[in-house]
Amino acid sequence: MRKKLVVGNWKMHGSRAANAALLSGLKEQGPWSAEVAVCVPFPYLAETALALTGQAVLLGAQDCSAFEQGAYTGEVSSAMLADLGCRYVIVGHSERRAYHHESDQLVADKAKAALAHGVTPIVCVGETLAEREAGQTETVVKRQLAAVIHTLTHCIGEIVLAYEPVWAIGTGLTASPEQAQSVHAVLRTQLHAATQKSDAMRILYGGSVKPDNAAQLFAQADIDGGLIGGAALKAADFAVICRAAN
Ligand code: PEP
Repeated sequence: MRKKLVVGNWKMHGSRAANAALLSGLKEQGPWSAEVAVCVPFPYLAETALALTGQAVLLGAQDCSAFEQGAYTGEVSSAMLADLGCRYVIVGHSERRAYHHESDQLVADKAKAALAHGVTPIVCVGETLAEREAGQTETVVKRQLAAVIHTLTHCIGEIVLAYEPVWAIGTGLTASPEQAQSVHAVLRTQLHAATQKSDAMRILYGGSVKPDNAAQLFAQADIDGGLIGGAALKAADFAVICRAAN
């Protein structure tokens, strides 16, 4: 039985005051029986770690460097994330693939760097609208995952995978539970061929998950929780989504 996981991706939102209000709202609403984490902007990691002390909500970051350390101005290493108490790091979010031209191989290298420091990578895969309409959904997500499987080899069972159709992120369009489940099943089959741990691995769905659609999505056999953007910025909405994953 896989424990459901709900992860809030705050993206580039927040301020010290707004974060404090959001975190105290979460404290009032929790705890939940699902595992819950928030991935916050780098500057707020240390303060958020303190605010989460004694709470069941875990800390995560939104990206990490593929490199260990050195002359990489502006980069943040996974060792630093581990040092700050991060349990998770998102890698390969479609916004980074699109705006920062991150390749499948770079995403895989970031996942490897994270695992090397005990930080669990949440590896995002997903197709664009044009790719879906061209019937390429499976080909695209399998190619993205294959790079990670090839790079991590026997460690692949340690990652969390997130299926995030690009056309559903921040658009208000959501994959139907059936559409999402069918891609999740494809991904689990691919993981199954790579590791004996595939049945224990969590595959999250992300893309306009809201309080009113979360329960139906999370009820699907291969959907093990969600990666939540916009709705993670309101404590009450995020709490409903976390409860839907109970
Ligand atoms: C995301 O940022 O990963 C995401 C799924 O965003 P939203 O929930 O806003 O679509």
